[in-house]
Amino acid sequence: MLYPLMHLTATHINYYYLCRRKLWLFHHGIHMEHNSDLVHAGKLVEEYSYARRSECNRQLALRARLDAHTQLLGVIDYFDPEARLIHETKKSNRKEEAHIAQMRFYQLLLKENGIEDCRGIIEYPLLRSSTEVPPLDATTEAQLRQELHTMAQMLRQAHCPPLLQTRWCRQCAYYDYCYIDEAEN
Ligand code: SF4
Repeated sequence: MLYPLMHLTATHINYYYLCRRKLWLFHHGIHMEHNSDLVHAGKLVEEYSYARRSECNRQLALRARLDAHTQLLGVIDYFDPEARLIHETKKSNRKEEAHIAQMRFYQLLLKENGIEDCRGIIEYPLLRSSTEVPPLDATTEAQLRQELHTMAQMLRQAHCPPLLQTRWCRQCAYYDYCYIDEAEN
């Protein structure tokens, strides 16, 4: 079957870990993040941390093909080419699994562009902690590729996945969109 070229980004992989419905809505052009105070707070933490970053870091915009129908796109805001180190800053470590998956996505993009064995560091300045992500190995790379294929397949479906219905929904930027019917009943 002939598919139009699909673009997947680090936000896609992040949302894949958070909620498949959120991922599907985002991919199909329904964006709610601009309404969320929590998203704004996260951006402020990132901007404050970036302002203190050393000058050895570079911003990289990368692309790579996953397969004939799928292109991966990503912008790494802070990459230290000497140390082969990717920096990411997050407000809270509550969704750490998603943060690590996002970091692996950047590692795969770098690898596909000829820059291998890159480590990642996810910084949580409000918690005064950080998490190191080792370079991609064969197992984590295969797992990530499989997830990206599964994601692309899911996003080609015409129907939006069902509500997640967890306590995290209340903190999600899509909460009003998802629960509008419940609010009216
Ligand atoms: S409100 Fe819940 S179901 Fe809706 S997108 Fe957010 S996490 Fe998913």
